[in-house]
Amino acid sequence: MTSTTGQSNAETIERARRVTAAEDYDIGTRFPSVFVSAQGSWMTDVEGKRILDVTAASGALLLGNQHPRVVEAVSNAVRNHGAVFASTLSPQRIELAERLVERYPAGEKAVFCKTGSEATTTAIRLARAYTGRDLILTSGYHGWHDWQLSYLNMGFDPRTRVANFGYNETALRRFLEEFGSDIAGVIVTPEPAWLDTDYYSNLSSICAEFGVLFIIDEVITALRWGAKGLNGTGGVRADMITVSKGLSNGHALSAVLGRREVIDAYDKAGIAGTYTREVPPMAAALAVLDEIEDGAVHEQCEKMGKLLKDGMRDVLASVGIPAFVTGPNMMFDVVVESESLSWDIYRAAYDFGAYFEDSGTHMVTAAYGEAEVEHALTAFEKGAKQVASKLELAPGDLPDARKLAFPLEAFGGSLKDSEGVLQRIEDTVERIAKRDKDQGNALDPACG
Ligand SMILES: *Cc1c(COP(=O)(O)O)cnc(C)c1O
Repeated sequence: MTSTTGQSNAETIERARRVTAAEDYDIGTRFPSVFVSAQGSWMTDVEGKRILDVTAASGALLLGNQHPRVVEAVSNAVRNHGAVFASTLSPQRIELAERLVERYPAGEKAVFCKTGSEATTTAIRLARAYTGRDLILTSGYHGWHDWQLSYLNMGFDPRTRVANFGYNETALRRFLEEFGSDIAGVIVTPEPAWLDTDYYSNLSSICAEFGVLFIIDEVITALRWGAKGLNGTGGVRADMITVSKGLSNGHALSAVLGRREVIDAYDKAGIAGTYTREVPPMAAALAVLDEIEDGAVHEQCEKMGKLLKDGMRDVLASVGIPAFVTGPNMMFDVVVESESLSWDIYRAAYDFGAYFEDSGTHMVTAAYGEAEVEHALTAFEKGAKQVASKLELAPGDLPDARKLAFPLEAFGGSLKDSEGVLQRIEDTVERIAKRDKDQGNALDPACG
C-alpha cells in the first residue's frame, strides 16, 4: 500500500502524540486516521484509504473540500490581492458585511473575527459595553472560552458573571425578574433537534418584555437550520447573531451581526484582532454566498440529509437497536441507549469507510449525492449489525428517560421543571444575588 508519509496511521498518531496531540481531543474522541487530503466529502488518509466524511468537518464545510468556486476565490485573493494590509478595511470585508446584513434580519451592521468562540465572546463584550450591565444569561455551547466553561451546568460563575439557565424557561423568567436591570444580554444556541422555533420566539419575546438584548449563537445553524438559520428561516427576532461554520467553507472566519447601536459599542468594548482583516477567508465567504444564492445548494443538502436521516432510522429499526432520530435534515441527531453504544456503532462503521461524529450529530455537504448517502448507509448498517450481534438488545422504543437525558448530556438542557431543577434555580438566584458587584463590572477599564 502506498503511504504518503511512509508511515501507517498508527505510527503517525504515535509521532503526533510525542509532539502535539491532546490525548482526548485529538486521539481518544476520534477515529484512528490521519488524513492527507480531501475532495468533496471524501478524505484520504496516510495509508491511501478513502473515507467518507459524515461530519462536514464539524460543520466547517458547506460545499465540501476543494470546491472550485472557493478555490478560485481564495487563490485569486492570495495571488492577486494579498493576505493582509496595514489597515483593517478591504473591499471584500465591506461587501461581505453588506451581503450578510441583507441576508439576516438581525443585521444592520457586521463585524468579523476568526472563530465561533471569538464571535460569541465578542457578542457578550458588545452587550456589556452597550448596556453598561454586568450579567450574562446563557444556554448551550458557545465555544471554549472562560465565560462558558461550565456550559453543561445550570448555575452561576462569579468569576465571569455568567449564569446558565439550561434552556429552562422558568429559570430564564426567574433570573430576569430578579436581576433584569443588571442583565446585559441573553445568549442561546439553537438546538433544532430538540427545541422548535416557537420555543425560541418565546425566549425572544421574554427578553424584549424585560428590555434585555437577545443574542442567537448561530455559529452552526446560520447556514444549516434552513438556508438562513433561526433568525432568517425561522423568523426569530434577535438583537445580535453570530455566524461562522460553513460561511467560508473551511476557512477561518466568523461574524457578529446586530443592531447598529449595539455593534457600534465595538470601540468601547475594546475589541481588536490582527487577523480579523485577513482577506482570503472573506473572498471565500463571498464565493460561498454566490454559490448558495439560488437555493440549489440548500435544496441538495436538505434532500441528501433527509435520505441519510431516514436511512439511518430504518437501519437501526431493522437491526433492532432502539433509537430516536430527530432534527433538521442538515444537522440531525441519532440517539441510542448510551454514549458507549453510540461510539461502538460509529467505530465499527469507520472500519467500513464512513467517518461519523461519535456524539451522534450528522451533517452532509453539498458534495453529497446519492452515491455518498448510499456509502454512508452501507457502512452504518454493517457497523450497526456487527455491534448488535454482540449485544442482547430488547427492540422497541428508546425509553423517555434517555430522550430527556440526552439534551442534558449534549447541551446542558434542563428541559423539565423537576424538583431538582427548581431547587437549582433558587440556589442560582441566591448565588447571583451574593456576587461582588464591584468586581469586574462592565464599566471597568478592560471594557473601555
Ligand atoms: C462550534 C461552535 C462554537 C465554537 O466555534 P469555534 O470555531 O470552534 O470556536 C460556538 N457556538 C456554536 C453554536 C458552535 O457550534
